[in-house]
Order: sequence, then C-alpha cells, then structure tokens
Amino acid sequence: MSSKINQAGGIYIHIPFCVRKCPYCDFYSIADLSLKPRFLQALNREMEIVELDTFVFDTLYIGGGTPSVLNPDAIEQIIKAVFGHFDFLPDAEVTIEVNPGTVSFEQLRDYFKAGVNRLNIGVQSFQEGNLNFLGRIHSVEDAYLAYEWVRQAGFDNIGMDLIYGLPEQTKANWRFDLEHAVQMRPDHLSCYMLTCEPDTPLHQDLKRDRFQLLSETKVRDLFDLTLDYLESHGYVQYEISNFARRTDTTFPPPVSRHNIKYWSLTPYVGFGPSAHSFIEPQRYWNFSDIKKYIREIEAGRLPIEEKEVLSTQQLMMEAIYLGLRTINGIDLAEFNQRFKVDFLRTFESTLNDLEKNGLLRIARDHCALTRKGLSLLDSITSNLTSLEFTGR
Ligand code: SF4
Repeated sequence: MSSKINQAGGIYIHIPFCVRKCPYCDFYSIADLSLKPRFLQALNREMEIVELDTFVFDTLYIGGGTPSVLNPDAIEQIIKAVFGHFDFLPDAEVTIEVNPGTVSFEQLRDYFKAGVNRLNIGVQSFQEGNLNFLGRIHSVEDAYLAYEWVRQAGFDNIGMDLIYGLPEQTKANWRFDLEHAVQMRPDHLSCYMLTCEPDTPLHQDLKRDRFQLLSETKVRDLFDLTLDYLESHGYVQYEISNFARRTDTTFPPPVSRHNIKYWSLTPYVGFGPSAHSFIEPQRYWNFSDIKKYIREIEAGRLPIEEKEVLSTQQLMMEAIYLGLRTINGIDLAEFNQRFKVDFLRTFESTLNDLEKNGLLRIARDHCALTRKGLSLLDSITSNLTSLEFTGR
C-alpha cells in the first residue's frame, strides 16, 4: 500500500522487558533486564536497515512488555531515532505504556520532556485482591500515586487500562473499579475482559481446576454494566473495549489514534521482538525471542520470523472482523470501493437475520453491531467471514 498519498501509518516499538511476568499475559517479554543495552542498539539498527522511504507516519506507540523499565534517556533515544529515520506529519501522537510500580515523578516528567504526549497507565484494578490474582507488581496506592505524578508531569492525554471478568467477580466488584477510575477522570479508558490464553500459567491453573471462568451470562452482565456506567459518566465507546472522555463540542474525543490504525487496516510497522507489521497486502512479524532478534540484526538482517501475503478475501475478512469491533462499524462505501463488491448484497441473508435479531444495524452508509451484537462479536464475525470463504 501506498505511500504518502494515502493515510498516514503508525509505528509500534515493542519493549520486551517486564519486572515480572503476570500469569495471564501472553505478550512476549522477559524479566532478565541485562540485555537492555544490546536490545537498544539492535532496535536502532533495525530502524536503520528497514526501508520505509515512501511512507509517512503520524503515530508512535511505545508498548510492550513494560516500557517504563527504560529510563528517560533510553526513551528519548528511541523517539529521536524514530523521528530521525522516518517521515512524520506534524502533531504526531506519541504514546508510552507505563506500569505503576516502575515509575517516579522525575521519570514521567522526563518522558514528557523527551516528546511523549500521551501516556497509558496499566492500573488494571483498584482492589488489592484483584491485583494479587492478576499477579501485578503494583499496589492500589502505587496506582494512585503514579496517576498523580502523570498529571503533575504535564500529561493531558492519559489512558488507563482496567481488566474485568475475573473469577467470581460480581457486578459490585467491577463497579467499584469503574467508579474509582472515573473519579480520576482519565481521558481514555480501556476495559479488557480477562482471557485465558493457551500456554500461560493462568491457563494451567484453569486446567487444574484452581478456579472457574465466569459464565457467559455473567460476563455479558459486566460488559453491559461497563457500557451503562461509562456512558452515563461522560465516556464515549468507540471500540468494543475502548472509551474516550467526552469533551466539549469543539474538540474530538481523545481516542487512541494509533490503535484506530489496527482496526481500519491502515499500515503500521512494528520494531522489536515479536512486533507485528501490516503493509497491505502483507503482514509480517519479528522473532519472539530477544536473543534471536539481536543475532539477526547484528548479522545485518531484518529479524522477521514470518511473512504472509493476504488474499483479497482474507483482507475482506479482516476488514469485517476489525470494522465490527468499532462502534461506527463498517463504512460501506469505503468497503465496496476497496474490495469491488456490494457488501449488503454479498451478505444479504445473514445481515437480515442479524438485523431481525437486534444484533446489527445498517444505517445509510455504515453497518455496525448493536450492544447485544457486540457482546457476541466473535460468533457473529466468524459466521460472516466463513460465509465469505465458502463464497455464498
Ligand atoms: S506487565 Fe504487562 S506485558 Fe508485562 S507480563 Fe504483565 S501484563 Fe504482560
């Protein structure tokens, strides 16, 4: 895909270090921080050898792992390298993820000075019991303190992550977290449902019957509560798990401009171990092994583990799956133009059934899931996309 002519892309940097692994997490990271200097060198070299001259970007997202295990000098070095190597539009969004328990006021202030203008803080819960279950290294007090420092450091675009759907979690328990989050008035809230990913310690505990997952009905109740509570407290849902604080009408809500690229098939390029990239029609990803990653780069090669070229049908499937995650849904004119099909006619009978059951709405130029539909996102999208594959 193109180039400077179309939409600006995003750059993602994966920092592959965490103080300790959380039992539910399947992102690539290691707790051995001794490789930091070699990783930083390799990261810089990776940016030097990649060829992205025809692209223009407008977001940089430093995620992981735990980027806040890096000191401000290292973050500044990364930002400078990114802006030095690639072409950026003015007013780029520069986000860093931080974990309470790994930050100080001075560090946050210096991240801000280094050019970070959006900060996402992984609070996850305001209850010690939940944090313990999730194996987080921070306490509730750490989370409050970190948030206070973030504001004092000058950030005015702050996102907060929360996790719900913990075993035996009641509505009252989840409501407590929502209430405390909203009181702090973050600009953005991501509420992720706990999932039990294969090969994680949490999954092993589940197999050993150490706990039970919440029933689908209870999860749906928590999802409904999230939407009701946040909508009535000034947050606009724009993706299944993401909410932006409503601002006065002269400003758009503070959505994550970077994450929107993932849901709209806009190009993004990832650097660092396990980082994924998408440049239509190709998707590729780096080795999820820091030593292999460094070795490849030191040998002068890009550390790409695998590449796939998506067919038009696969791209269409992705556009449906990702588009329906968003509240605006699929832009029909754009979809039809991109794939040279008539979306409504191609999926007519399934769309009619979904609409009749109150799961989907089609309004002039968009097709989107209703609230009930969103809670059944996976089964609806797999139904639609399997229809496409069988060519019906
Ligand atoms: S801090 Fe985040 S990235 Fe690191 S192990 Fe925990 S959930 Fe995963």
